[in-house]
Amino acid sequence: MLLQRLVEYRSPDSEDESSRSYSRTRTVRWQLDLSPDGKMAELVDLADPSEKATKFGKAIRVPNGGRTSGIAPAIGADDAQYVLGWCDAKSKPDRVAKAHKAFVELSRRWLREHPDDHAAQAVVAFYDQGDPPSPRDGDKWSSKDLVIIAVGGNEVTDSDSLWSVWKSVVEERKSGSGARSGFCLVCGKRKPLLDRMPQALPKALVPRAEQEIALISANKRIHTYDHVEGLAGSPICVDCGQAAVANLHAILSDERSTFTYERQRTRLAWWVTRDADSDTIRLLDERPDRIGEYLHSLATGRQRRKPSGANFCSVTISGNVARLMVHQWLDMPLEQAEDNVAAWFRDHKIMPRGQDRPAGYPIWLLVTCSGQWVPDNSPRGGRYIPMWDKAADRPDDLAHLLLQSGLHRNALPPHLLAHVVRRVRADLHLDGPRAALLRVALTRMPGRSGGEPAAVLDETQDHPAYLYGRIFATLESLQTRAYGQKNLPNATFFHRYFSGAVANPRVAIVQGIQLMPAWLKKLDSAARETGGSPEQRVLAEKAARAARRYRSAFKELYDRLQAPPAPLNDAESQSWFVMGYFHQQAHDSQAARSALSWGEPTTAPGNDTTTIEGTNQQ
Ligand SMILES: [Zn+2]
Repeated sequence: MLLQRLVEYRSPDSEDESSRSYSRTRTVRWQLDLSPDGKMAELVDLADPSEKATKFGKAIRVPNGGRTSGIAPAIGADDAQYVLGWCDAKSKPDRVAKAHKAFVELSRRWLREHPDDHAAQAVVAFYDQGDPPSPRDGDKWSSKDLVIIAVGGNEVTDSDSLWSVWKSVVEERKSGSGARSGFCLVCGKRKPLLDRMPQALPKALVPRAEQEIALISANKRIHTYDHVEGLAGSPICVDCGQAAVANLHAILSDERSTFTYERQRTRLAWWVTRDADSDTIRLLDERPDRIGEYLHSLATGRQRRKPSGANFCSVTISGNVARLMVHQWLDMPLEQAEDNVAAWFRDHKIMPRGQDRPAGYPIWLLVTCSGQWVPDNSPRGGRYIPMWDKAADRPDDLAHLLLQSGLHRNALPPHLLAHVVRRVRADLHLDGPRAALLRVALTRMPGRSGGEPAAVLDETQDHPAYLYGRIFATLESLQTRAYGQKNLPNATFFHRYFSGAVANPRVAIVQGIQLMPAWLKKLDSAARETGGSPEQRVLAEKAARAARRYRSAFKELYDRLQAPPAPLNDAESQSWFVMGYFHQQAHDSQAARSALSWGEPTTAPGNDTTTIEGTNQQ
């Protein structure tokens, strides 16, 4: 289960983490400098307004036991009210006095348990002398400013003994006054059990969190089984609770083990057991050129690895006020997860226009391309509205859906097909990533009609919508070839008919059949201009060959239709139309570049590489 896997996890720097249990890097405003004999040397203001990083103080790892409403001092560093007894206008003097007394008492406990620790000796000697410094006139301060104590210039939090006392203190507090003992649900051993989880996750790590997040919470009786208080219904020992939260914190803090996207309501964190790692999992969001190398290695037959015995784990989370929501939990052999990633690329890769090998795309690009395309004057003709912009019209939680499909081979919801088709029609823009998104959604659609959509033009595919799409692309290409790219009319066949043709190809095909003779006539007359220079003769031959090819290609496709073109009433068949259209274009552009029978490369539609490289993440 999730908690067991979290407890087993060891992050690369877990050594350091484990000796600094219940700590957090926080901004410390003041440093109380003591001499080794406990005399106060100086109170240093660590805030330096000239530097952004230290504007409010210095970032230092200090003891941190999580939120609490009662008086709960730390050791060596804490609020000014605890360390120095400073009471501002918002604080109650009684409470501050108690807090300061408790801090001093805990410092004495540190010395009692580690009488040889020089830092502890100096701190206790300082408090024995009484009289901590008051705020200086003119300084801006509050009771909640963090203060750290240093002895002889060294922060007392460098002392290992401080951390060992601190660990016991937090665990005593968290296991409650009664210190229940019992069988831990996670490790199965009989140990002291927690009343509450020992630390919280910072809200910055969890999307939609409004406060620090508790991994497990049962603050009210109404939340628990049998109306017991605290975590009695889910017994977790102190060690397991501490390790689970610390490890999840480490995993969520590491961008190599998380997939995070703007405006998505969840985050996915993953890890591999047994200290193993996986670059294959990371490929889901790698750069397109790395994905290309990977696809090539798959195609050329990569060596099968021996099962490692390691497991792949992933958890998809969000926050709800101060609670953690787990949307999905996956735990499977690593090899299976990596096979799923390979299947993900196999199912969505597609031959882009202007390239010679099918391409795969990172999740962020597939999410980006689901949003609105805005034409502009750049070389690639437009751009997608950035991920953070809510006007972009992207489906909610698309990154989550794609990641789940990539890692677990889940089907994608039918509304995704409808959405992408709608955007292609509205934007009059189709490229490799959009075609890839359609292909994988169609491939993984339960009860799909027709065979599996291919990565490249499929000559055997007889789905009528696919053939309509191919016919449309052929007509568009003929018009472009007949006029030449520069002399095309403002409203081309594509601009006039594409959007309508996706839902009802009849009008476009009938119009295309009526316009075809005029287009072919242009090619035929170009083919007759054989006089003059050798170059002209070559052009004429190319025009003649193109005319022959268009006639036969159109006839061949049209004859394969079993019935007159009919409306396409659902997103699935509309997707087949778009696939057929895109495949035909990619195929034609490749044929044009191979410069054999299609004549000039002007028939090749826009090159997709520019789109991919030009679309930067966020
Ligand atoms: Zn345990």
